[in-house]
Amino acid sequence: MSNIIRLLPDHVANQIAAGEVVQRPASVVKELIENAVDAGATEIKLIVKEAGKTLIQVIDNGKGMSDIDSRMAFERHATSKITMAEDLFALRTKGFRGEALASIAAIAHVELKTCEAGADLGTHLIIEGSKLVSQEEAVLIKGTSFSIKNLFFNIPARRNFLKSDTVEFRHVVDEFERVALAHPNVHFILLHNGSEMFNLPESNLRQRIVNVFGPKTNEKLVPIKETTEIVSIEGFVGKPEFAKKSRGEQFFFVNDRFIKSAYLHHAVLNAFEGLLKEGTHPSYFLYLTLPADAIDINIHPTKTEVKFDDEQALYAILRAAIKHSLGQFNVAPVLDFQR
Ligand code: ADP
Ligand code: MG
Repeated sequence: MSNIIRLLPDHVANQIAAGEVVQRPASVVKELIENAVDAGATEIKLIVKEAGKTLIQVIDNGKGMSDIDSRMAFERHATSKITMAEDLFALRTKGFRGEALASIAAIAHVELKTCEAGADLGTHLIIEGSKLVSQEEAVLIKGTSFSIKNLFFNIPARRNFLKSDTVEFRHVVDEFERVALAHPNVHFILLHNGSEMFNLPESNLRQRIVNVFGPKTNEKLVPIKETTEIVSIEGFVGKPEFAKKSRGEQFFFVNDRFIKSAYLHHAVLNAFEGLLKEGTHPSYFLYLTLPADAIDINIHPTKTEVKFDDEQALYAILRAAIKHSLGQFNVAPVLDFQR
């Protein structure tokens, strides 16, 4: 008889999980910004150097952490956001898996400074490759700052696999834009190699879209609004004449979370039928709100996929809402009558 099965040590398990959660600097950006949103921050500043390869820092003015929590936060499956399985179907937060910080700390050098409201002192902590290097009290203002350096320092294959700074920074901006578009009421700033790339003041949905994509966007937007028992839909589609050859400005948000859905994308294209020049793609910014128990977000670690209870109804409602608005805004040509 030979018993050869062992439980892996935590730091090994964390490194394996990290492979799924952290693909590139942009994945770290997503996790840290979402944590800042979950912490109730009204201002979130992202500082990136060399597309995040040398530094990713997120500074927020959210609720901060106690010194014990600031260590707990790096344990696997450690979260303040859910306590039982049922909570998965009543989610109000971006996070719930409790594995992002454990994963990031397993494959990078992490410095955390955090202070709770009303506390005299905050805490300053350094973790490298899952090992606590130091923790001290520090005089800090309320909020949290995470600095991530030397990403993938202990996984050379991953580090070598990273693309050029231009490509990696594009991914960082994508993640930044997605969270910024999902939360127009939060002030977001992005600095890259010392230059300010975005400074998005607290605003409404339309203004946030315009601030992200430029002043010319304003005249292109057709508002969409629909409320049914199944879903409420809000947002904008781009007028058909502004549709572009390249895909890109196409965003679905479900309960304030950016998601990808080929099925719902099809519903939008279907609503535009007969209005688009061949080979062009309409832009859209569509915000769907559903009861938390009508969706399942726990499909994939990055949570960009969602399962809907009633996908077909959603398709029909979305398509009809867009068709209606396109018609109302007089952008539907006579083509509609020819069928
Ligand atoms: P999750 O977000 O799924 O809970 P994470 O590993 O991302 O898991 O974070 C673990 C915990 O650390 C969170 O549940 C939260 O309590 C705490 N935390 C992380 N980031 C922040 C932050 N910026 N401000 C306050 N608390 C935070
Ligand atoms: Mg998180």
